[in-house]
Amino acid sequence: MPAHRPTTPYDWDGRLVPYPADRACHYRQTGQWSDTPTGARLHETAVRHGDRVALITAEATLTYRQLDERTDQVAAALARLGLRRLDPILFQVTNKAHAVVAWYGCLKAGLVPVATLAAHRAHEIGHISTKVGAVAHIVEAGLKFDLVAFAHDVARGHPTLRHVLTIEAPVATDGTTRVEDLGSDIDPTTARALVESIEARTDPCDVAVFQLSGGTTGVPKVIPRIHAEYWNNALFYAQALGWTPETKVAHLIPLIHNAGISCALHAAHAVGATLVVATPDAPSAFELMARHEVTDALFGHGHYQAVQRPEFDKVRRTLRRALLSGAKVSHDLFRRVDDSEQRWAGQLFGMSEGLFTVTPLDAPEVARRETVGVPIAPSDEVRILDPSSEQEVDAGAIGELCCRGPYTIPGYFDAAEHNAIAFTPDGFYRTGDLASIRDIDGRGYVCIQGRIKDLINRGGEKINAEEIEVLLLRDPRIAAAAVVAMPDLRLGERACAYLVSVDGVELTMAQVQSHLDGLGVAKYKWPERLQWTEALPQTNVGKIDKKSLRADIAAQLEAEAAKSVAQVDDSFDHGALVHERHHA
Ligand code: AMP
Repeated sequence: MPAHRPTTPYDWDGRLVPYPADRACHYRQTGQWSDTPTGARLHETAVRHGDRVALITAEATLTYRQLDERTDQVAAALARLGLRRLDPILFQVTNKAHAVVAWYGCLKAGLVPVATLAAHRAHEIGHISTKVGAVAHIVEAGLKFDLVAFAHDVARGHPTLRHVLTIEAPVATDGTTRVEDLGSDIDPTTARALVESIEARTDPCDVAVFQLSGGTTGVPKVIPRIHAEYWNNALFYAQALGWTPETKVAHLIPLIHNAGISCALHAAHAVGATLVVATPDAPSAFELMARHEVTDALFGHGHYQAVQRPEFDKVRRTLRRALLSGAKVSHDLFRRVDDSEQRWAGQLFGMSEGLFTVTPLDAPEVARRETVGVPIAPSDEVRILDPSSEQEVDAGAIGELCCRGPYTIPGYFDAAEHNAIAFTPDGFYRTGDLASIRDIDGRGYVCIQGRIKDLINRGGEKINAEEIEVLLLRDPRIAAAAVVAMPDLRLGERACAYLVSVDGVELTMAQVQSHLDGLGVAKYKWPERLQWTEALPQTNVGKIDKKSLRADIAAQLEAEAAKSVAQVDDSFDHGALVHERHHA
């Protein structure tokens, strides 16, 4: 048995933080935790709703029975390959039917999916795979970047990686196994018996899934989600939205990410609903959603503009509930998905560490439009604390949103030092988000008011500023670096790097990109604008004054936008019209 393998549920070399016994006991007694392993929860739904459609993608449709049987076979084949309970398996795939099959197949085999992104590269995967002791790597073939070759590179000389599995590869290449080929020769009854024997050994407190944090400091932290709570987290979400087996839910953003799993895949399958898995490309997603008469969808900030374009009209015909998430919701956007009669819109706030807040279905319009709702589980606890003193702020005041509850982790994986600052002494997770509680008709709703953590939210993908600064400084020509968010109409935010050169010679964007590429950093994290300066501004306690940098870049962008409007005015001589539009 390899040295990294845990012997008991919470003995992953002492790197997991258990939930305190009293809280765990309460969550169990109140049914907020379950003793049934995650893969078995899918099977339970399949037993109840076998002939209903579980999954629709552009290329496939699967009923619950088909999904359940196929994933039993995949699980049995994974076990036959030599993969064992609690072996971590990296996922780098996009929104495909076989990604879903692989996900449930792994869960049923007792493996622990590690939800990395298809966009991650050597810098991220190298760190994460070593941290968790990944044993297998499942990648999608046929993407612009050759993830199959990449997986082989990562595995070379890696201490634990032994298997490369693919989805979407036309044929199996040397040293790879196609998920599509897994287990089709295994009799479904035999596969089921094997899955049940694995599940019989699963402890509810075993890790079900490793998610990744958007990051607060340094490199991404690993988030262990356990069987007792993970499926129920999704069930709470589905119940909050009143989903039933008649619901047809669409998901457009990456599925293998906590929001994708908890607000789409597991949530739909917890209640026997149909999940329509689309891709981030809005026109084709809207086409698929319209064809399958989707009733429910979640739209991240990256889709706010697309929702306001005419091609969304065909989706509106059957859409009954839309959740908006990631940034403030404008009046026009809200009206586009909410007509107070047939169509209902609300908001979602959440994080891979746990807590979700969702607008209650019966909330008044002002709460739907201006708040992110209320926590979804009965025992979720939210406190708004003064970030420096950890004292609760006055009612309605802004402070750091802190939370604990049945599905919010009590600690990151193998991060004792970070856990000491990321959690309060009584176990509340410090989200790094600023919030206030607003009283509307006697009910407290959460309002997001900004954040104190140093990250850039690029259309939902988080970029950790400190991580990129450290990487930039590895170029000997850069003396100082500060990465800040700059506003962006489509993605919400993009990364801008303020840089000081060692010798007064400014690097070009291409040189900076080639430096980060050489370090294997995922492209979405690369700064998209460079601001060279003599020195970085400091606060009076000697820290880099990021607030002033953020204000500086926002002002520059505004001035540039105004200038380009003025240029258009000059060249087309229809100034009044453009001016009016800009100030409407
Ligand atoms: P992740 O763990 O990648 O899902 O990121 C969680 C973080 O995304 C939160 O801590 C917030 O900073 C941000 N976030 C999530 N939902 C919202 C929202 N509705 N409005 C603003 N920020 C959000």
